[in-house]
Amino acid sequence: MKVKYSKRLENLPPYLFSEIDKAKRDARREGRDLIDFGVGDPDLPTPKHIIEKLSEAAKDPRNHRYALDQGIGKLRRAIAGWYKRRFNVTLNPENEILPLIGSKEGIAHMPLAFLNPGDYVLAPDPCYPPYRGSSILSDGQVFSMPLLVENNFLPDFKEIPLKIRKRAKLMFLNYPNNPTAAVANKEFYLKVIDFAFKYNTIIAHDAAYSELSYDGYRPMSFLEFKGAKDSGVEFHSLSKTYNMTGWRIGWVCGNADILSGIARVKSNIDSGIFSAIQIAGIEALNGPQEHIQKMRALYQERRDVLCAGLESIGWKASIPQATFYVWVPAPGGSDSRSFAKLLLKRCDIVATPGIGFGRYGEGYIRFALTVSKERIQEAIERIKKRL
Ligand SMILES: *Cc1c(COP(=O)(O)O)cnc(C)c1O
Repeated sequence: MKVKYSKRLENLPPYLFSEIDKAKRDARREGRDLIDFGVGDPDLPTPKHIIEKLSEAAKDPRNHRYALDQGIGKLRRAIAGWYKRRFNVTLNPENEILPLIGSKEGIAHMPLAFLNPGDYVLAPDPCYPPYRGSSILSDGQVFSMPLLVENNFLPDFKEIPLKIRKRAKLMFLNYPNNPTAAVANKEFYLKVIDFAFKYNTIIAHDAAYSELSYDGYRPMSFLEFKGAKDSGVEFHSLSKTYNMTGWRIGWVCGNADILSGIARVKSNIDSGIFSAIQIAGIEALNGPQEHIQKMRALYQERRDVLCAGLESIGWKASIPQATFYVWVPAPGGSDSRSFAKLLLKRCDIVATPGIGFGRYGEGYIRFALTVSKERIQEAIERIKKRL
């Protein structure tokens, strides 16, 4: 049989990490000692009290059945409580919060609820790849909003042609930002809300990194601002805050009509999050939070070691205030893929080439701070000696 893929599958952007993935596999097979700054996945374990709650809940047969589509009420109330404490944002747990099987799941399904063929989605470039992928899979057209260093990696809405603005159904935003580690301020969010009302564009703000911040800086929620709840939603996740990437639990909150559209898509696709994981999620949000401060201190220390190290070899990395990424201009203006390959070949160091996040990521490489301080120091030594 000759298998023919759908147009939408063929329209997906090429997977640009395959070369580096292969080089990485080969290096592993050869037994080389890799220092992997590539994956944005915490190296720390989930806090013990959350694991214990899961193990207790997993033993209860009531949790073995299909879960409720809209999530356990107590989980939605825990999320509302957390938003109130953290951002002073009031959310109605009945219709302004929708738990997700990880925020990526909701991001992937959201465009299906709102796009008609040919509608535009405004996506940052560089960006977390699912914004683009999910829009294409929903027959949308993606318009890239370049994130440029001279604009502090914030999109400049004035650069979007008027005819695109008028056809923009959805805008993805993500601050603190992956991959650039940039943060947004009040002035920017007010511009976003203004844009949403002017062009009737739904805002989808991804706040997965809101709790990973340094030097006392506290990122804001998009929903803190007047008009935000009328214009959009915010995605959130337990993945990075509680080291629960593998568990698959997150949520989307904000505008009730938008949430209802996402929920209708989801009710045709999945059957909720394993109840025991939801119960563990309640424990994460309502239980002790001490580990977060410790985690921030740990990433901050790693950030300082990496940034000081890079500076000592003449690389110009700016020091991130949030996320666990350092976004580094590839030295000498080299192209990001060749540079990442060179780092791997000569130094056994894995870093992610910026081009994989979009055209405007070219010229940069991303380091994830998910490597111990000692290994970061070792990486700097290797670059000094071998590059
Ligand atoms: C890690 C990450 C997420 C979290 O995804 P989950 O599906 O909740 O694990 C969301 N957005 C961005 C930009 C991320 O980097």
